[in-house]
Amino acid sequence: MRIILLGPPGSGKGTQAQLLVQRYGIVQLSTGEMLRAAVAAGTPVGLKAKEIMAGGGLVPDDVVVGIISDRIDQPDARNGFILDGFPRTVGQAEALDELLKHKHLKLDAVIELRVNESALLSRVETRVAQMRERGEEVRVDDTPEVLTKRLASYRSQTEPLIHYYSERRKLSTIDGMMAIDEVTRAIHRQLLALGAVEPKTHARSAAKAAPAKKAKAAKKKAAKKPAKAAKRPSKSTKTAKKAAKQAVKGAKKAVKKTVKKAAKKTAKTAVKKASKKGPKKVTKKRAKR
Ligand code: AMP
Repeated sequence: MRIILLGPPGSGKGTQAQLLVQRYGIVQLSTGEMLRAAVAAGTPVGLKAKEIMAGGGLVPDDVVVGIISDRIDQPDARNGFILDGFPRTVGQAEALDELLKHKHLKLDAVIELRVNESALLSRVETRVAQMRERGEEVRVDDTPEVLTKRLASYRSQTEPLIHYYSERRKLSTIDGMMAIDEVTRAIHRQLLALGAVEPKTHARSAAKAAPAKKAKAAKKKAAKKPAKAAKRPSKSTKTAKKAAKQAVKGAKKAVKKTVKKAAKKTAKTAVKKASKKGPKKVTKKRAKR
């Protein structure tokens, strides 16, 4: 799966990208992170980007396109990726289209996180306070003055991408003002609707998955008899429900049985061990006396 997260600074792109990484096992490609790493390492790209980033401007297109192109070629990106903070200009979007075409890769979706701009400043302030609390280094561009500049550059240079991807029928807009997990769920629903992810990517424990599978199979079986179902719809529905319930019950019983069996076995072994060890020790101690 290959997706783009679009949204102004502070809209939660980074947070959502990390959650999506955990859920789908794909990588997050954040140009901001890569540039910050380059600045910290003092590479030629870092030296070029340092001042621009500190002032809230945009690093030249060719620099970020080059970074992304190299990163997409890495083996860990083969399974899919989330682009966070890239593209940021129409030029970058066109370059991305070209390089994906060249690499025979398809973009699945562009998710726009729409937020209330007045809330962004307080969000960034909260983020900075939390980072300080954790003793983490705060970004030099996370100040109200630089944020204002970053927002201005988002509006003038990045917002046109909404039109760009909407024209290409790639854009999905999600309310980024909802709670974090609600936004994640909304993104997941959208990806499901687009067919970008399999329904089975729902986080579910193995124990719960088994009965659900059986219930599904039972429902499917019941649904396979359309003639009967048409004649006696209520009975057929009842049968399906009953079968599903029984399947769930059966699976639950099986799990209980296995757990009971395992507990019994452990207890038996413990008793055996105790009865073997117990008298021996006592005998030895008694013998010593
Ligand atoms: P971010 O972490 O995405 O907020 O990015 C931090 C800074 O890195 C931005 O304010 C820009 O200066 C620079 N940057 C990140 N991604 C890009 C990009 N795609 N194009 C140009 N500059 C970028």
